[in-house]
Amino acid sequence: MDMPFRVGFGYDSHVFEAGRKLVLGGVEIPGHDGLKAHSDGDVMIHAIIDALFGAAALGDIGSHFPDTDDKWKGADSAKLLAAAVAELHARGWAVGNIDVTAICERPRLRPHVEAIRVRLSSLLGIPVEAISVKGKTNEKMDDVGAGKGIEVHCASLIVNRSAQTGVYNM
Ligand code: MG
Repeated sequence: MDMPFRVGFGYDSHVFEAGRKLVLGGVEIPGHDGLKAHSDGDVMIHAIIDALFGAAALGDIGSHFPDTDDKWKGADSAKLLAAAVAELHARGWAVGNIDVTAICERPRLRPHVEAIRVRLSSLLGIPVEAISVKGKTNEKMDDVGAGKGIEVHCASLIVNRSAQTGVYNM
């Protein structure tokens, strides 16, 4: 662990399923179908977890929280994110910042972005200013553009806590 900073990237996608609650970034979004999943289907948190594990080269969300394990059935993804952050901390890493892009035709995410940033700030233990959440459409192209689901991409930076960088006074 000789580098003070490392970058990661995560991606996830889920299709909509009627009768489920939509949860994005740990925030319930009312008035729209949720996402099909073994867990609560929080596609945004799944992409963030992969970006964090990716930065630390610790595998992916499936290797830490296998969806074949009943322990994670219907799991609150916020708890998985907290566990992922704890795993990084245990290995000497702190989260620096994340940059998230969610792609879907509906629902419109902009009205929910601030609530999501605040929630992610508390789950990640970093300032709201270090969390970027952007919503886009796919301009009606392909299955996402046809409204079948949501894709999320996430870039992350993690900081070696022993590197004394002074970032966020960690
Ligand atoms: Mg997922």
